[in-house]
Amino acid sequence: MQFYSLNKISPNVNFKDATVNGQAPDKGLYFPENIPQIKKELIANIENISNEEIAFEVIKPYVGNTINEADLFSIVKETVNFPIPLVKVTDDIFSLELYHGPTLAFKDIGARFMSRCLGHFVKGSDKKVTVLVATSGDTGGAVANGFYNVPGVDVVILYPSGKVSSVQEKQLTTLGNNIHSLEVNGNFDDCQQMVKAAFLDDELNKKLFLTSANSINVARWLPQQFYYFFAYKQWVCSPSGDGGNPPVVCVPSGNFGNICAGLLANASGLPIKHFIAATNANDVVPQYFETQHYQPKKAVATISNAMDVGDPSNFVRIMEIFQQQFANLTAKVSSCSVTDATTKQTLLHVYNQHNYLCDPHGAVAYRALEDYLQLHPNNKGIFLETAHPVKFYDVVEPVIGQTVKVPDSIKEQLTKEKKSTMIGVDAEELKGFLMGM
Ligand SMILES: *Cc1c(COP(=O)(O)O)cnc(C)c1O
Repeated sequence: MQFYSLNKISPNVNFKDATVNGQAPDKGLYFPENIPQIKKELIANIENISNEEIAFEVIKPYVGNTINEADLFSIVKETVNFPIPLVKVTDDIFSLELYHGPTLAFKDIGARFMSRCLGHFVKGSDKKVTVLVATSGDTGGAVANGFYNVPGVDVVILYPSGKVSSVQEKQLTTLGNNIHSLEVNGNFDDCQQMVKAAFLDDELNKKLFLTSANSINVARWLPQQFYYFFAYKQWVCSPSGDGGNPPVVCVPSGNFGNICAGLLANASGLPIKHFIAATNANDVVPQYFETQHYQPKKAVATISNAMDVGDPSNFVRIMEIFQQQFANLTAKVSSCSVTDATTKQTLLHVYNQHNYLCDPHGAVAYRALEDYLQLHPNNKGIFLETAHPVKFYDVVEPVIGQTVKVPDSIKEQLTKEKKSTMIGVDAEELKGFLMGM
């Protein structure tokens, strides 16, 4: 399988080069030259097939011969070695809980897969790879955890001081070894600017092999298809599910990588009736659905902060799946925006009425799904719960008037001491740090 750049200037590359480069030299996102079709037997028999086998079948055509089958199978197995349950919330609405991985957010799946692939590709090379990433919270933790102690890879994470939750900060700063955290005295945009400057710096790039681990990397994007298949497997098995009638799936979206993976899975043959892209007040895509005019905006801060994105990078990939045709897109996808006030109301309502605790991102998706089902009766649906509510306890606890129980799996990490290096909003200071590594 070859990947082409959506800017159509750079040459096509295989999975290895797409992973190592991150973005094409012409700054385009990589896209697979064809969308492989899943074997019909896999869908028909899905309830008898293990998650690792499903994941292997889904990813193998993309990876091609860049990783041998035995190694790819181990990578896939390690990627999906935690539960991803489909939980009934109401008669019509199910939650796909993507937060049982090590950092309690869905980004664990993409980060675990990518880190193991990159580790595989640098094995035996004498040059170390340095992964440089800016985070507003969840990405950094997932990347740190995924790459922790992967030989041949150093990770440098920039995060805005005082602007991540305390749980997120511990996940970023307590691992040590090959994980380095830089606490930037600025905001997320400042962090991202500094990272961009480092990627353009010739002297730095001569000394270090720099790469990124953000969601535009194919090795983070493509494995996100896995759990749409796992959801379907549980859907057809569940006596309370809808048997042969495929689900409507609602995805809380920021950079639109997650929903884009679901759309790719569907284009490969996974039965999904309809997709809803739910956003917070950052409504560039819902606006596009209304006006057919794509107008990026400056992101505004909301309580579902992992979705505070004003120019979603994966939108171009979504359009490519639909041959750049608006009519094709709207036949399969709709989009809606949910305010913070409605998100809080929904969180409380679902907790009180259905005894189910959402995080703010999941609550956005729940609201959008319930509204859709009201207008489209005789359907049932799934919303993606992308983070554990404890990661956003500062929002959740005041809404429900109770504390959220910390899962045992992260208790120990929360007692560890933070290790980070303070730096200013200064590209030269970052360069100094990187040159000295
Ligand atoms: C990153 C993130 C999202 C948004 O996912 P995209 O792929 O960027 O659309 C939603 N919820 C949570 C909790 C996240 O961390």
